[in-house]
Amino acid sequence: MANKNNKNESITARDVDFAQWYTDVVKKAEMMDYTSVKGFIDYLPYSYAIWEEIQSYLNARFKKIGSKNVYLPSFIPSSLFNKEKEHIDGFAPETLVATYGGGERLSDPLIMRPTSEVLFCDLYKRQVSSYRDLPKIYNQWCSVVRWEKTTRPFLRGSEFLWQEGHCLFETEQEAEKNALDVLDIYMDMGKELLAIPFLTGIKTEKEKFAGAKATYTIEALMHDGKALQSGTTHYFGQGFAENFGIRYLGRDNALGVPHQTSWGVSTRLIGAVIMVHGDDNGLVLPPYVAPIQVEIVPIRGENENVKAACEKVLSELEALNIRAEVDNSDHTPGWKFAQAEMKGIPLRIEIGPRDLENGKCVLAKRVSGEKVTEDLEGLASKIPAILREIHDTMYQKACERLKENTKVVTNMEELKAMLDKGGYAKTMWCGDRECEDKVKEETQGGTSRCMPFDQTPVGDRCVCCGKPAKKVIYFAKAY
Ligand SMILES: [Zn+2]
Repeated sequence: MANKNNKNESITARDVDFAQWYTDVVKKAEMMDYTSVKGFIDYLPYSYAIWEEIQSYLNARFKKIGSKNVYLPSFIPSSLFNKEKEHIDGFAPETLVATYGGGERLSDPLIMRPTSEVLFCDLYKRQVSSYRDLPKIYNQWCSVVRWEKTTRPFLRGSEFLWQEGHCLFETEQEAEKNALDVLDIYMDMGKELLAIPFLTGIKTEKEKFAGAKATYTIEALMHDGKALQSGTTHYFGQGFAENFGIRYLGRDNALGVPHQTSWGVSTRLIGAVIMVHGDDNGLVLPPYVAPIQVEIVPIRGENENVKAACEKVLSELEALNIRAEVDNSDHTPGWKFAQAEMKGIPLRIEIGPRDLENGKCVLAKRVSGEKVTEDLEGLASKIPAILREIHDTMYQKACERLKENTKVVTNMEELKAMLDKGGYAKTMWCGDRECEDKVKEETQGGTSRCMPFDQTPVGDRCVCCGKPAKKVIYFAKAY
């Protein structure tokens, strides 16, 4: 059932069927296509460009903490993979294994990387021998393969794109600091680039990464009230390094074992952007991550003056490094408006013969639908501030939504009601795994999302067992 202003009749309304809305949007906005292998998608230009903006933001920030990009192989020999028991137990069910090469059975089958901890350990074992070789702060942009049973474009795929940082340090303090510094970078990316406020904190024993001592997370709230884990950083302690035989000669001339971290975000962030900001007319993209920030639509494009005015505005915007385009297709203006809306282009500039005579044009903001008339003279120079304002509006809106949908609960009844409705339940937990499991069972899928850094108590009893509890925790239903 499409809403009546919806010119894109083939997009299902969000509140009617959110999952279908999502599928419609990613297809209709030409972000992806389904391939002949289930769970593997083509990333089309309109989503890949978003990924490139994320890459360029993160590369600049990673560089400031001393990170350098590398590229390691796609395959892990199974003999190497099997060295870290806890780690393989976590990943074994979802690995894809190559058993033949060049027509011959491989004596040591190769595992398509589900993540590259062991490859980095293998590299570091060869490269690190002295404290002078530390720290090692490497990041890799690549794809990983996890054989998933149920998949959904960008949110869960059998192959997805990500970045994975893998670092070694002399001390626990340095490693912990690295894991938290990157968490800050991810939080900033949410605020400055994606216009998404993340909840952040530490994962419980149950939810942390296989083999990690501590997992920190960023969690977003989707429009349907479900949580989306959007990135994680891990402190590994010395476990991996010990198992893989990474040793270095320390400042004290004794052999030491380095402390390790890893951190990553994936193309799942594209799914987050879609599900946090989108509406019944399609995508709504935050300006700084939008592949096209400004769409210029000529009204009566056959008019030479209109054409010239559009091109002039375009070149002025390009000179300011604003990503803009003119829709010169032979569709009607109405169709072009709907198309720009569906693609979530933050700002549209309409230029027609009548406005042009008066030196005017019309600006339309995607996020609010608001339309204003502006002078063409000096227009381009005003656009950066308008894009900033659009970004701020979107971030503010998402913050309010997160606030409205995060509630303190004190017993199981309230917890169940909250998780059924959607959103985050903030509550107290005794720390026992049994209570965490029971919450999941009784709420039909609610999981602990994180324990926030601000541990100001919101009660003194465990929401589940009623025993004295000291841990503040968020529960939600999650993707
Ligand atoms: Zn309990």
